[in-house]
Amino acid sequence: MSDGRREILLAHGGGGRMTHALVRDLFLHAFDNPALAPLEDAARIDVTSGSIAFTTDSFVVSPVVFPGGDLGKLAVCGTVNDLAVCGARPIALSAGFLLEEGLPMPLLESIVASMRRTCEEVGVKIVTGDTKVVERGGLDQIFINTAGIGVLAPPLPSGAATVRPGDCILVSGPLADHGMAVLSARNELRFDTTIESDCAPLWDLICALLAAVPNGVRWMRDPTRGGFGTVLNELAAGRDFGIEIEEAAVPFRPEVRALSEILGIDPLYVACEGRVVVVVEPGSAELALATMRSHPLGREATQTGRIVCDPAGRVVLRTRIGGTRIVEVPSGEQLPRIC
Ligand code: MG
Repeated sequence: MSDGRREILLAHGGGGRMTHALVRDLFLHAFDNPALAPLEDAARIDVTSGSIAFTTDSFVVSPVVFPGGDLGKLAVCGTVNDLAVCGARPIALSAGFLLEEGLPMPLLESIVASMRRTCEEVGVKIVTGDTKVVERGGLDQIFINTAGIGVLAPPLPSGAATVRPGDCILVSGPLADHGMAVLSARNELRFDTTIESDCAPLWDLICALLAAVPNGVRWMRDPTRGGFGTVLNELAAGRDFGIEIEEAAVPFRPEVRALSEILGIDPLYVACEGRVVVVVEPGSAELALATMRSHPLGREATQTGRIVCDPAGRVVLRTRIGGTRIVEVPSGEQLPRIC
């Protein structure tokens, strides 16, 4: 940086010379593209005719670097995936950086580089942004907000209203890796595990899936905060159908199962950041699974359950020993600052 210091100072957020240097030397350099380059108050983006999808999310994960990813990768994947599960091709993101005074500059640089790499992977651009700095202790190191715009073009999911009994519930891979990887990286725990976050941008996988079964996908959701159990409850709540999942078919890695048991956490409610839950009409299930399995991010895709008539509005887990239990909506925040 032109000031010669290697940490964030309050002046980096002051709007003056140091702010301009930070924007020019770090953000503009990393994210360089024609919509961002003029540094106007708003980016101008060309869109094709039709509809866009628009979403926003804030990322406060702790620690900011974890096995399999970091805050930067997460901040791009989270917003890209929210667009993708709606069937929208991500085209533009904003990035709002909230920085704590004293944040080491190399850490910020590595997070920005990670955002850039993930954007390149997806083909999405960061076209506008903002930086604020708060005094030491005002926040924990760095938070990032990303908003995203995606273009909606057929084939699209037919929507939650079209879900009906007989439909199949697929997941693109093992669940809960992200949340357990972040937990295992926390200082107070320091578990020595091999669990890595599943954090990944899903647009390419979802695009392939929609193309393969253009009329077969009813509904998709990325099981982030609250995990698979929460997503299924959100789908079933207030509806005239229920959801039945098979315990033996819900994919968890052995390490995730083991750490969940040690910590007394139900991995059904633990976040993923690179998985998608897909409801497909029964005739499309086989092709949908094969399509996902042929993609690097969906190799371990599996069918975990189906939409049933009873009990309406509820999610039921059929256990390995043949019993059933209701998968409740979790009360309160189980795992703070996972994403
Ligand atoms: Mg989501």
